Amino acid sequence: TERSLVLVKPDGVRRGLTGEVVRRIEAKGYTLVALELRTATPELLAEHYEEHQGKPFYEPLVEFMLSGPVAAMVIEGERCIEGFRSLAGATDPTVAAPGTIRGDLGRDWGLKVQQNIVHGSDAPESAAREIGIWFSELA
Ligand code: ATP
Repeated sequence: TERSLVLVKPDGVRRGLTGEVVRRIEAKGYTLVALELRTATPELLAEHYEEHQGKPFYEPLVEFMLSGPVAAMVIEGERCIEGFRSLAGATDPTVAAPGTIRGDLGRDWGLKVQQNIVHGSDAPESAAREIGIWFSELA
């Protein structure tokens, strides 16, 4: 069985969507292994978004991710990495399919970063890496 790191980003927490995201994860049949509300730090985000350092949206992305608490969780279930990304929908909430978290609950707010409610690991290697960053006790 597989594990993935999921974050409800600050926009999602601010809008009171944490429960809705958890509801969809549980309704899909995945299990919560860890769940914690926390505020990121620049150091943690530098690790988490290692691959995006230097990109034009990196600074606004970090600023956004520091703008309030995130709900960090580890979920578990067969193929839950792919499964959660399917629940989340496309990166750009304007075009994310209806039925997905981003498609149903997100929109463009005209800002420099996509405020797209959730993050989910994109592969087994990144899931292991991200779980180690956010929940070192589970690594
Ligand atoms: P997904 O992989 O499902 O598209 P993600 O969160 O993994 O979502 P990444 O490509 O890893 O997407 O980008 C990380 C985050 O950076 C995005 O979720 C979004 O908040 C922001 N982002 C990505 N690309 C852009 C962009 N072109 N303009 C503005 N913000 C962006």
